[in-house]
Amino acid sequence: MLIVQKYGGTSVGDLERIESVANRAAKSKKDGNRLVVVVSAMSGETNKLVGYANHFSKNPPKAEMDMLLSSGERVTASLLAIALNEMGIDAIAMTGRQAGIKTDNNHTYARIESIDITSIIESLNDGKVIVVAGFQGISSNGRVTTLGRGGSDLSAVAIAGALKANACEIYSDVDGIYTTDPRIEPKAKKMNFISYDEMLELASLGAKVLQSRSVELAKKLNVRIVAKSSFSDAEGTIIEKEIKEMEAVLVSGIALDRDQARVTVREVSDRPGIAAEIFTMLAEEQVNVDMIIQNASTDGTTNLGFTVKESEIEDAKRVISNFDHDIGSMDFDANICKVSVVGVGMKSHSGVAAQAFSAMAKKNINIEMISTSEIKVSMIIDEKNGELAVQTLHNTYELDK
Ligand code: ADP
Ligand code: ASP
Ligand code: MG
Repeated sequence: MLIVQKYGGTSVGDLERIESVANRAAKSKKDGNRLVVVVSAMSGETNKLVGYANHFSKNPPKAEMDMLLSSGERVTASLLAIALNEMGIDAIAMTGRQAGIKTDNNHTYARIESIDITSIIESLNDGKVIVVAGFQGISSNGRVTTLGRGGSDLSAVAIAGALKANACEIYSDVDGIYTTDPRIEPKAKKMNFISYDEMLELASLGAKVLQSRSVELAKKLNVRIVAKSSFSDAEGTIIEKEIKEMEAVLVSGIALDRDQARVTVREVSDRPGIAAEIFTMLAEEQVNVDMIIQNASTDGTTNLGFTVKESEIEDAKRVISNFDHDIGSMDFDANICKVSVVGVGMKSHSGVAAQAFSAMAKKNINIEMISTSEIKVSMIIDEKNGELAVQTLHNTYELDK
């Protein structure tokens, strides 16, 4: 079998952990598999590098950030290759560029455009284990790019897709996908299977166990992901196409996203095109707007509220300040979070949202914004109530049963 294994930050968190990953990879190779291993930087390393850059600048050039941040993954890739060779396994480390990963020029959040798998195939045919530095690629300008935080998952899925691998095993410190973050709700249950769509919702709504873009790509390329722990030999969770049995499940999981902030803009000129202008400028500055609320206008002005990632709030401020003739005032609130209920079964059942709102009311948790889709209900609430809301909803839908 051709297997892609990806090891996240905690799995390669220190030299002992890297040794243990080398043992796991060596075993898979000795079992007769052809193997590509994708690695993250040691846990905490990427944040440390961001901190170094911020010592010099609040707004460092994004291309330089990519050059800097990509180094963390190179360290672990080469150390793992060294450890494997010491065990008698012929292994070779590659950067994103050497692995043929070509991206657009959108530094710090680049999209993979294509993968030239020639080098990987050649080395596989020579019997080598390939260790690829995750999270990075090369732009058409020949500069190093990175794929967004958590992006090593995307590297692994993209390589698995290009190689038509039999499986893409993603190893972290949890042994699969749970009904909610087991660190928040110890009663969370591990799922044996989850559909791409549900996983995509959970991931984009804050369950960082998989990067959402990687799930999106896995669905598109039909890559079978198995989420596993590098700390145990437990079975893991398979992420694949929706199957009949799954439809019966009303709610499959609860997600919490703490990386949320709300922008409120008051007394916005109530004229055609103003919303288009504001949101176009935000998009041009790469600010991802999530929920939007516009109040009905009374005196020829209106109030606009929307949520962004906490990390993008400075960019949002800069953009909104450009509209000083068209707005009265603005304020920002980073002390919010988003809690979401996800399940494909909601497509054919009503009342799930009402149940969630009642549960929040019983705990005296105020809901500040709401958004729904066919398979999710999201609520913006005070950050201090985030964990309580997750536990309450988990209990409401009896996910521990
Ligand atoms: P890695 O560094 O290996 O990429 P991450 O920290 O990105 O690992 O992801 C693993 C973490 O995801 C777990 O420690 C867990 O706290 C968190 N998590 C959030 N939601 C879930 C969920 N529904 N199921 C499992 N883990 C979850
Ligand atoms: N090291 C990068 C990050 O921390 C990428 C990854 O771990 O997937 O975001
Ligand atoms: Mg991760």
